[in-house]
Amino acid sequence: MPNNVLLEVENISKIFRVQGKKLHAIENVSFTLEAGKTLGLVGESGSGKSTLGRLVLRLLDSDKGKITFDGTNISKVRKKALRPLRRDMQIIFQDPSASLNPRMTVGDAIEDAMAIHKIGTKASRQERVSELLKRVGLPDEVKYAYPHELSGGQLQRVGIARALSLNPKLIICDEPVSALDVSIQVQIIQLLLDLQKEFNLTYIFISHNLAVVEYLSDEIAVLYLGEVVEQAPADELFHKPMHPYTQVLLQSILKVPDRMENKQELLFIQGEVPSPLNPPNGCTFHPRCAYATDECKSVKPGRKEVSESHFAACHLVK
Ligand code: SF4
Repeated sequence: MPNNVLLEVENISKIFRVQGKKLHAIENVSFTLEAGKTLGLVGESGSGKSTLGRLVLRLLDSDKGKITFDGTNISKVRKKALRPLRRDMQIIFQDPSASLNPRMTVGDAIEDAMAIHKIGTKASRQERVSELLKRVGLPDEVKYAYPHELSGGQLQRVGIARALSLNPKLIICDEPVSALDVSIQVQIIQLLLDLQKEFNLTYIFISHNLAVVEYLSDEIAVLYLGEVVEQAPADELFHKPMHPYTQVLLQSILKVPDRMENKQELLFIQGEVPSPLNPPNGCTFHPRCAYATDECKSVKPGRKEVSESHFAACHLVK
C-alpha cells in the first residue's frame, strides 16, 4: 500500500431498520485513498453513495468495518474525541442553502465553523472570510448578503469557502454540481480542481453522473444497492468497463466503450433499482442485466480481479 494513504475504509457495512425490516444500505465496502487524490463514487439514486460519505465522516456510525483516517482508527472514536478530526474532514452539499442559516449573513456562516473550533479572533476570522471569498471567486460584499440573495452557483462557492475555512485534508463533495446549470457546473468543477492542486486536498466526489466524475477522479467506484460492483482507475474504467452496470452507465453518457465490438448490441438499462428492503437473490443487478444467466439469479458474484487495481463483481469476469 502507498505510504501517503490518507483514508482507508475496510469492509464497512450499514444496516437501517425500516418497517421492521433490514435495509442493507452499505455492504462490505473497502477502498483506500491517497492524499491529494480523488475517488469518484457513482451510482443511481438509492445506491448508497451519500450514506457511504456520511459513514466516512462519522456523521453515521457503521455497523462493522474499520475506517482509518490520517493514521487514526476513527471507527470507534467517541463523538467528542472526533471534534479535532472534524476540522480535517469537511463536506460540500448538493444544496448549500439547506446547510446555511437563512438568518445568518454569508460572512457569519463562513466564520461560524472557525468560531466553533475557537480559531483566531473575530477580526482575524473576518479577514480569513474575505480571503476565502476571494479565493472562491466571490466579491467581498457577498459577506454581508443573506443566502436567499445569492444564485445557486454563488451559494455553492460559499459552501466551498465554508468547507475550506478549517484547512481540511479531506472534502466529501456530495453531488455538488448536480443542481447547477451546465456552464456553472464546469466553473465549480474547475474551482475544485484548482483548490485541490493548491491545497493538496483529497476528495470523495459523489455523483450519479459518470461524465461529471470523469473530470475529477483518479479512481472510480461504482455502487449498486449498497455494494461496490466495480472499481478501477478512472481511465481504465472508461476504456475497459467490465461490469454490465458500469457499461450501461457509460452508454447513458454516450461514451461507447471501444472494446465492445458490436455496438448494435448496446443495451439500455432496464427497469428501476429494486427496493433495498427486498433485494434480488444472487447478483442484485440480475433483474436489469441483459447478460443474466441462471447462475446470476442464485449465486452472488464475488470480487473478480481484472488487474491489480481493477475489480468487478460479475460472473462474466473470468
Ligand atoms: Fe449481469 Fe450476471 Fe454479471 Fe450480475 S453477475 S452483472 S446478472 S452477468
